[in-house]
Amino acid sequence: MEWQTTLGRPVSLEGVGLHSGKSCRLTLLPAPADTGVRWQRVDLDGQPIVPATVDYVAGTERSTTLALGEARIQTVEHLMAALAGMGVDNALVQVDAPEPPVADGAAAVFVDLIRTAGVVRLEAPRRVRRVTRPVAVSHGNAHMVALPADRLRISYVFVSDHPALPTQFAEYAVDPATFPADIAPARTVGWLAEVEALRRRGLALGASLDTAVVVGERELLTPLRFPNEVARHKILDIIGDLALAGRVQAQIIAIRSGHFLHTQLARQLAAEFTEEALA
Ligand SMILES: [Zn+2]
Repeated sequence: MEWQTTLGRPVSLEGVGLHSGKSCRLTLLPAPADTGVRWQRVDLDGQPIVPATVDYVAGTERSTTLALGEARIQTVEHLMAALAGMGVDNALVQVDAPEPPVADGAAAVFVDLIRTAGVVRLEAPRRVRRVTRPVAVSHGNAHMVALPADRLRISYVFVSDHPALPTQFAEYAVDPATFPADIAPARTVGWLAEVEALRRRGLALGASLDTAVVVGERELLTPLRFPNEVARHKILDIIGDLALAGRVQAQIIAIRSGHFLHTQLARQLAAEFTEEALA
């Protein structure tokens, strides 16, 4: 028997959002069995709650946005990945701004926060969405395949012809043993040539040399934490985006994919396979 989990106690963190640049206080709270992860905008009238499921995905440009009516939360994927990677099934995530803190640009700070809270067992069997036949999705030259497997395992190919950041590959089985050290510290890539254009559109306003692997015309402006850090970060993004379909059990192979395709796959898996209790 595998059991559902939640956090042992509330924990908080403050910081600015990656894209909005707005300051935010984030609080993670314990939640009952079978409620999943839900986000709450405590700064809005009525403090609306948005369930973190594929039904509430409202945007996938440069990050994943959830929304229910006027309540929007941008860049949910890194915290979603931290909860999934650390085996937390149920949690309430309160924010007082439209975007959680960027923290380290990855999920290492969120892992520490979850460890501070502790992960406790609930008296309900864990539910898993098992992929039992191959599913493939493509968009342009980006591709993802989900195959039957005995656990969640993700492979990613980051395709690049940049002289200082060549093509990378990473592959991990995702569990609380591999996630904190191998996946959570990996940061996203930021192309210096794009930064000004992104900022004019109100994106990347909270990004810095500390929160991204920043790539100049011919060189890296940020030392890498791992030779394949960008591919590892993409696995982090996939974990967070697939968590919108609950706990998925599959082998995932991804090439060049981003949030649009990740959430397409999550939506398709949620439509084609039902969640089963691990009794
Ligand atoms: Zn990311």
